[in-house]
Amino acid sequence: MYASCQKTVLVTGGAGFLGSHLCDRLLMEGNKVISLDNFHTGSRSNHLHQASNPNFEVIQADVADPLPNLRVQEIYHLACPASPPHYQESPTSTLKTNLLGAINVLNLALRTGARVLLASTSEIYGDPLVHPQPEDYFGNVNSFGERACYDEGKRAAEALFHAYAAEKGVDIRIARIFNTYGPRMQPDDGRVVSNFVVEALQDQPITIYGDGSQTRSFCYVDDLVEGFVRLMASDVRTPVNLGNPGEFSVTELAAMVVAMTGSRSPVTYLPLPSDDPRRRRPNIAKAERLLDWRPTISLKDGLGPTIAYFRDIVADQPADSRSSPLQSVV
Ligand code: NAD
Ligand code: UDP
Repeated sequence: MYASCQKTVLVTGGAGFLGSHLCDRLLMEGNKVISLDNFHTGSRSNHLHQASNPNFEVIQADVADPLPNLRVQEIYHLACPASPPHYQESPTSTLKTNLLGAINVLNLALRTGARVLLASTSEIYGDPLVHPQPEDYFGNVNSFGERACYDEGKRAAEALFHAYAAEKGVDIRIARIFNTYGPRMQPDDGRVVSNFVVEALQDQPITIYGDGSQTRSFCYVDDLVEGFVRLMASDVRTPVNLGNPGEFSVTELAAMVVAMTGSRSPVTYLPLPSDDPRRRRPNIAKAERLLDWRPTISLKDGLGPTIAYFRDIVADQPADSRSSPLQSVV
């Protein structure tokens, strides 16, 4: 039986968008939480509201470097830039983060006997030829393209998790996360939801890459965190898709954001980045069956608090110092 008493939990990438929400949830359940982050794409401000909690600790460190000997019962391994313009800034750093980071957290898990969960990604399916994507689809990935540092890095991380489980008995969990959005994304994160919302709130052109017919399936952060916690508590040692099966084209997302913000933004079309997947939607039958998990928050309902969060940020910035959302490299 898996202990449900207070645990000490390490969250790598805890200062990031997903990590900071996960820290909230784990603290709320009475756990001791250690966030380990190098603040590359995360922000100290994501931890401000947690700083006075005696059960919370922050360690500034890089997961690609050997990790301190922490006594922990669980590790959620999230440290990695997730937005294409960020992970493409330095492909070698992204690969090191994925490969050395996975080895370092797995070795820590081996030393401490901790259960360890990898934040993997729908990107491991590449530009999928099977739709929607079930976990037993092996993917269609370009090892030599702009996304390789991230999607091949995550595939290698999954392979490392599998190897450490099979050969050394490490107790692993793997979440394949599909596009997740919500408050605490950085305004210059560069992913589509934050870009469109920030552009709309500033009445700047909405930047659609390509013709906007490509699709994504958007999951609200609270649903995703619930899936993380259920997966960690389960006995499922094989990859599980976590995402919202509601599928939208990028054009549809732009229209929703413009309507919900009351924006006067026009739409502008920029080139489609190379290897940008044409469509993406999770098959979540495995999570439904084994974790009794399914998303409960629609895109429209999740966009409300997301827009409110970015509205406060935009309002706090003087108009002449507002930075533009980060655009992808082509
Ligand atoms: P994020 O960029 O907001 O958070 C990543 C965090 O990791 C940041 O706080 C960053 O500073 C930290 N980090 C990066 N490299 C590091 C390193 N070498 N050492 C220590 N810390 C480092 O992104 P996110 O959306 O919160 O994503 C979190 C995890 O979930 C990532 O592993 C990402 O690949 C995965 N994921 C996210 C999504 C999504 O839609 N949000 C989808 C698929 C997978
Ligand atoms: N996208 C866009 N405009 C933007 C940012 C992204 O049209 O300002 C597109 C991007 O080309 C992709 C989709 O939106 O087709 C989702 O992009 P994101 O970077 O959020 O995630 P990923 O491509 O990694 O799923």
